[in-house]
Amino acid sequence: MALSGEPHVLVIGGSDSSGGAGIARDIETISSLGVRTCIAVTAVTVQTHEAVLETHHLPPGLLADQMRAALQANKVAAIKIGMLATEQIIAAVAAVLRENRVIPAVLDPVLASSSGRPLLEAGAIGTLTRDLMPLCCLVTPNLVELAVLAGSRPAVDDEEVLQQGQRLLDAGSPALLIKGGHAAGLRSTDILLRPRQQPIRFDAPRLVGSMRGTGCMLASAIAAHLAKTRSLEEAVCQGKQFVFMKLRGAQTSRRRIVLFA
Ligand code: PLP
Repeated sequence: MALSGEPHVLVIGGSDSSGGAGIARDIETISSLGVRTCIAVTAVTVQTHEAVLETHHLPPGLLADQMRAALQANKVAAIKIGMLATEQIIAAVAAVLRENRVIPAVLDPVLASSSGRPLLEAGAIGTLTRDLMPLCCLVTPNLVELAVLAGSRPAVDDEEVLQQGQRLLDAGSPALLIKGGHAAGLRSTDILLRPRQQPIRFDAPRLVGSMRGTGCMLASAIAAHLAKTRSLEEAVCQGKQFVFMKLRGAQTSRRRIVLFA
């Protein structure tokens, strides 16, 4: 049996035919940071950069089999989770994570595409917060996702953002990185929130324009740094830096930039 001793990140998520988001983005990001990947596909989506045309969910048993095979074949040092599609797929991922509690898992709670198409069924939010989030060392919601996960309306100020975050910590999440990219203002601030610790703010100048798949990139870059045995705080800091440089590069090269995840 060919076992690879190099650290890998196991990427769990949906494919996006446009390459703008999903596992293609994840693999690209993690590879560019010098870490190998293995994959477990949850859904196949047909997308352009403007629209999600079709989504096809894979059977939960097939997803669990992919995860177990990837974990058996490789030294998986971190896990990155993206699009989960259904409640049954969430339950399958949670079951395999419970068998592998020592591997740090980063969850990007993908709810919808930026074009507005749901990528997780509405009835699955409770299963996500109750059964999966407590098994992940970090969850990376944007402000819209944070409000949905916390069962609230979108926060109107910083205090409300922290209250919503606290609700998810109280429900068992070990840490949240709340992404402020969709908020107004000249700077983009993300908040790392952990139980009984002061929030840590990661601040960067807001860049004009937007780019697809930045949510995938950030969670993937953090997972890659965790696989390199960086601390959570250091991995978040390096992950933010990675996405900032990518956005700045896209701006400088004047490529067409299409929006965030
Ligand atoms: N498609 C897949 C498979 C994804 O995983 C994601 C986000 O993680 C998206 C689409 C949404 O990306 P965007 O917001 O850039 O459209």
